[in-house]
Amino acid sequence: MKTVLLEEMTWPEIELAMKNGMDTVLIIAASVEQHGPALPEITDTVRGYAEGIDLAKRLGNTLVAPVIRPGLSQHHMHFPGSITLRPEVFKGVVEDYVEAYILHGFRTIILTSSHGGNYGALAEATEELAMKHPEVCIVSGCSADDLDAILIQMEQLEGLPVGTCGGHACDWETSEMMLFDEAYVRKEKLQKGYVGAITDEILDRFFRKGVDAVSEIGVWGDPTGANAERGKRYFEFYQDMQEKAIRRNLEAWREKK
Ligand SMILES: [Zn+2]
Repeated sequence: MKTVLLEEMTWPEIELAMKNGMDTVLIIAASVEQHGPALPEITDTVRGYAEGIDLAKRLGNTLVAPVIRPGLSQHHMHFPGSITLRPEVFKGVVEDYVEAYILHGFRTIILTSSHGGNYGALAEATEELAMKHPEVCIVSGCSADDLDAILIQMEQLEGLPVGTCGGHACDWETSEMMLFDEAYVRKEKLQKGYVGAITDEILDRFFRKGVDAVSEIGVWGDPTGANAERGKRYFEFYQDMQEKAIRRNLEAWREKK
């Protein structure tokens, strides 16, 4: 098969794929939001597609839904171009995706996010949908806590100072975008953002006032040393963690049955 992206397939191709056992659909929620002066607004969506295509191959029998863009980006609204959905609209979109794929006969639905801000609402939506459709296996991937741990582990693996992979337009995201296509990154605009400690006071400022109250360029981390080779290692590591989390959650659902 040429593609695992549902949006690139015709309906007879999808019907045939499902007859041949492709009964799992992967739904990824991304964002359309500012990513500092060097990365485009589409960053999380680009990452979402790359993650989805790779995960579908790792998991097998899996097709990838059109990546959901935009997502929840309230904290980025002080920067031009960002779009945010109201939480109830976001959860409604997720619900409508899931209901559509259940209607078409998919038996396993995996929901993940390529944007940190979506994690909470996506976890809630996943739990609600799983309760509503006990006959369908509806599970998530990594949690928000998993993501925090992954960022720290990535810095340690690369021997980088604490805060380099802050999680937003940082060394991780910038290196990955270089891996996907160097043209995405305005290299001459790369600039260090917030790399300090993540205290309660900082988080409070971040959530109440927005990203710009912590970093006026909208960057959480230091992308100035980013490169594509590191992007490849980051990507593999992140995908390993995501695959592990999904398999663990699929296993837990089956055990409950
Ligand atoms: Zn991002």
